Order: sequence, then C-alpha cells, then structure tokens
Amino acid sequence: MIKSYNSFEVAQNQIRDAAKILNLDPATLDLLLRPQREFAFTLPVKMDTGRVKIFQAYRIQYNFARGPAKGGIRFHPDETVDVIRALACWMTWKTAVVDLPLGGGKGGVICTPRNMSVRELENLSRAYIRAAAPYLGIEKDVPAPDVYTNPQIMAWMMDEYETIMQQHHPGVLTDKPMQIGGTEGRRDATARGGVITVREACKAFNVDPTGTFAIQGFGNAGQRAALLHQEMLGGGKLVAVCDSRGGLYDADGLPVKELVMHKLKTGSVKDFPGAKAIDRDAVLELDVDVLYPAALENCITHENADGIKARIVCELANGPTTPEADLILYDKGVHVIPDILASAGGVTVSYFEMVQDHTLDFWSEQKVHRRLDEKLTTAYQTMQEAILEKNVHPRLAATVVGVARVAEACELRGWVAPDEARKNLEF
Ligand code: GLU
Repeated sequence: MIKSYNSFEVAQNQIRDAAKILNLDPATLDLLLRPQREFAFTLPVKMDTGRVKIFQAYRIQYNFARGPAKGGIRFHPDETVDVIRALACWMTWKTAVVDLPLGGGKGGVICTPRNMSVRELENLSRAYIRAAAPYLGIEKDVPAPDVYTNPQIMAWMMDEYETIMQQHHPGVLTDKPMQIGGTEGRRDATARGGVITVREACKAFNVDPTGTFAIQGFGNAGQRAALLHQEMLGGGKLVAVCDSRGGLYDADGLPVKELVMHKLKTGSVKDFPGAKAIDRDAVLELDVDVLYPAALENCITHENADGIKARIVCELANGPTTPEADLILYDKGVHVIPDILASAGGVTVSYFEMVQDHTLDFWSEQKVHRRLDEKLTTAYQTMQEAILEKNVHPRLAATVVGVARVAEACELRGWVAPDEARKNLEF
C-alpha cells in the first residue's frame, strides 16, 4: 500500500520529538504545534477570456516570537492548507537555526501557472496582495518567492502593496529584482547555502568534495547548485540529473553550463544530446558522493531509502525525506543535511535584503557571500554539536536547535512559563 503523508502531521511529530529531548512544558509544546495566525482568501481574477475566475489562496504566519513571519508564496495546483502549514512551520525552525531575527510563514495559491498568461499571473499576484496587504509589512510578515513564483511576481506584489499604502515599502517582500530594492546574491542564495553545508559535511565526514554528485529537480535551486558545487568545491562530476519530464546519466560527468542552457531553451533536461536517458527516480539511487534533492516534498520514502547510496544528502527542497526514510538513512550511515539548514541560504539572504532595504545601504556581492558563509557555517556546526550531544539524527538535531530558540523567545515574552529544567540548555 502506498502511504500518503500529511506534511503537517509530519512537521508536528518532529516538534513532539524535539519537545521530548528539550523537556518542553505542555503549554509551550501546545503553542508550537499550531500556527499563530492563518488567513484564507478567495481571489477573483480577470482572465484573458474576459471571464473572472476565483482562486483559493492562503497565508500562514506560523510563529512570530523571534520576529516578523518570513517565507515564500507558492503557486501550485496541488497546494493544500496542510502543506502550507507544514512549510510555514519548517520556516520557523529554518530562520531560528540560522539565528535570524525572524519568525516563519508561508503562503500559497492553488493555480496552474504553466497554463496562465503573463497578464493573468500579474492579475493573480496583485489580487493576492489586495487580500493580504493588511497583514503584511516589514514588521509583520515578509513574503518571498517559492515554487513557481519569482522576482517578477515579487515586483508586481510590491507595487500593489505600495499602491495601496501610497508609500515606498521595498522591505515588504524579498527576492525582488535588483533595480527595485533587491540584493546582490539572492538568486543563487539557496543553492550557495546548500553547497556551503556540503563543504562543511565533506570536512566532517571525510568525503571528497570533488567526487561525484547527482541532482533531483533542475529548477532554480538545482541548476545553481550544479554550477556552484563545481565552482565552490573545486570540481565534482555531475553524473545524473532529472526534472519532472525525465532523467539523464553520464558516468563521465554532464557539462553543467550546456545542460543549464538546454533546460532554459527547452524547458527540460530531457533529450540533452549525448547523455543517456534514465528513469527520474533512478537518479536518487545512484552511487554518488553527494545527492541534492531539489524538487518537492516526500520523494525519499521508506520504499526507496534503502537504495540511496549517496554519502551526503543535501536537501535543497523543502521536506523531501519522510520520517521513516530519515531513520533508514541514519542507520545506513548516510549523512542527511536537513532542509531547514541545507535550504536556509535563501531566507538568510532575504534577511540581508530586508536589512539593506531598511537602511538604504546596499552591500557588495562579496559582502553578501561572506555573511551568508558565516551564518551557514555556524549553523552547520551548531547542528553537529546537537547531533553529538543528543545522539540523534541531523533533522532532529536541527529541529531541536530551532525549537529551543523559538521556545525561549515565547518564554521571554511571557507567552508561556519558563521551564526550570531547560534553563541551562543553550544553543
Ligand atoms: N522560499 C524560500 C524558502 O523556502 C525562501 C523564503 C524567504 O526568503 O523568505 O526558504
């Protein structure tokens, strides 16, 4: 029987596991198990046919004890409120693990962007902001792109927000185009952050960073990870890659730049000249040093985890590994760098963008890269310390670090009583 996963239940179980380790009191646990605020919107949007179509949309501010809610907005046909809850929850631990003064949130619109014209997408983006504007702002909640949303969509959204407010508010959204308040280094930040964590993991586990790697999912994060892995780690052979339409394999290594060009031109990696076509799922099970899952949730499960041969798995996607698979991989000795750390580079540079928009002092690309490296290297080391101290798998260790920091903020605000037993636990 194929097990179906409710991502929010998975996320809640992770909190329960972390709470046990941290000895959280029941009220704190209860608070962290639920989103603090949820908004559901029905958006009427004028389509090219002249007809109006109604779209269902959400924004969830999971926890804002450490700062304004932060997280992307997805446009996806299979979006559900529970997936958004889970993603908003994971954003909360993600911002906490890298120690940003932010909370966690996520938004989504149920739609099929592939079947929509540019004008329809603009109408939808503006409709979203008309509905959500009262609840957004640099001191409340700051969205960004996620699956099937991008800087152009952020530009329309910011413009709609500023039109409503009749003021400039560049910090209301991040990952905007550079010309209107965006930052250097945001577009490749998620992948760069992931590669930084792989560099640290290779050192910790004595893995050759110039060995082989494979990428599942070849969107923004996957493409940039391919380029940056080679650039930042001094080489490495990309032996396999796949996207939603097909997979490719070449034992001698695929030429990354040409492959990215092919993907941009044709919309897929499929039919890339000279490479062998393989099954999409086979990409996950190859004997490589590093595997980057960079697609959607729940693709490494109890059914294929045993077949994973990579030494390091760097989760650029949100929630790619199911809880059963986590345990299987841990027992097999595969080092999984969990999504809340591996994919935290994006939100880290989003935070840098907020700082720059607020101070009107824009940083050089080198400064963004340096500060990102500091943040992610420190976060990786903190997770490693928690793994050793608590003797748990990396995802639980990272969740423990995030949950501890958020719980502490809730306690300091007086939302819940401080727990004496936890007083000396510092991360
Ligand atoms: N969507 C990205 C993530 O899941 C970035 C979020 C942000 O920059 O706020 O981490």
